[in-house]
Amino acid sequence: MKALSPRVGRFTESVIRMMTQVCERHGGINLAQGFPDFDPPEVLREAAKRAIDSGYNQYSVTWGSPAFRRAIAAKYSRQWGIELDADRHVTVTCGATEAMIATLMALIEPGDEVIIFEPFYENYGPDTILSGATPKYVPLREPDYTFDRAELRAAFSPRTKAIIVNTPVNPVGRVFRREDLQAIADLATEFDTYVVTDEIYEHIVYRGLRHVPMATLPGMFERTITISGMSKTYSVTGWRIAYAISPESVSPAIRKVHDFLTVGAPAPLQEAGVVAMGLPDSYYEELARMYDEKRATMLGILTEAGFRCHDPEGAYYIMTDIGHFGFKDDTEFALWLAKEVGVAGVPGSSFYSRRDLGATKLRFAFPKKPETMERVAERLMTLRRRI
Ligand code: PLP
Repeated sequence: MKALSPRVGRFTESVIRMMTQVCERHGGINLAQGFPDFDPPEVLREAAKRAIDSGYNQYSVTWGSPAFRRAIAAKYSRQWGIELDADRHVTVTCGATEAMIATLMALIEPGDEVIIFEPFYENYGPDTILSGATPKYVPLREPDYTFDRAELRAAFSPRTKAIIVNTPVNPVGRVFRREDLQAIADLATEFDTYVVTDEIYEHIVYRGLRHVPMATLPGMFERTITISGMSKTYSVTGWRIAYAISPESVSPAIRKVHDFLTVGAPAPLQEAGVVAMGLPDSYYEELARMYDEKRATMLGILTEAGFRCHDPEGAYYIMTDIGHFGFKDDTEFALWLAKEVGVAGVPGSSFYSRRDLGATKLRFAFPKKPETMERVAERLMTLRRRI
């Protein structure tokens, strides 16, 4: 047989989804993958059922139902003060996951480079490689997970086509400040590169901080592709509904790739999305408050169990240090914890290009019901006497 694509050999399978499988095999509690174990709001569930009963069961317009795109544009301008045209700027995709790869495939030519901050959400490296570019990694440095401006500048070159900016950052919860974004914007302008932002946690921000969309910085709309979606904000990770907001010069290319990748996102769920986009501001305030409470609870449980925790500013993960537990590395500890204690996290090395940088870390997701948290607490309390 002829050889398989060498591209695929340049990245590994998803460690997060591998941990989910290990967890299921051992009857563990899954704090590896970032999904809620509670229901989405009833109005959305009702809206989805109504859409199916009202005939929204066939393909919608490939780049998104007109009503949903208009609702996204209206929400975006209400919340972030940018006027969008639903026909020229908004493309609906099958999750932020598809929005990212469709965007990169639309932008990349052979020989291009894409800058990625690390620790990163594990899809960005494979997305970059699959679209034919070379990833260039820039560290977010502890303790605050900020970047060094000189280091970032050094990563830019004439071959840089895009930089991926995820804020709030999965896995460490850093919320980029306006000054951080301005520094990135200045370099993107100087080197004439696109900025692809993943803002899927835009509404999950703590400590009175506020998310700043890159596209709202002066002059940046024209070079920014903003990706966000319904998975995290409305607790519907299985619906696979998201969107890319792009300048008119870029949208047709993203739409073309999207069409040939997936044809379109689920039609009835886009109609339910219209209802989601119309929820009042109080919905988002309550969401952030609920997750802040869960953050505090999980931080308490992990600290009590002996983990050294990084308190996040946003998103719904806690990165911990496990070096003092005495295991060979993060993977050995993660597998042991899932099998012997029944709690699954994600080995920190999967968030770094240089795996040793994450070798003493483990990430836990906390979008979980209070009763799940209690079960996690009971199980983790046994840690101290086991090691
Ligand atoms: N982007 C980030 C930063 C994420 O953490 C996740 C999921 O965990 C995704 C994208 C995936 O989003 P979606 O479910 O819309 O594909």
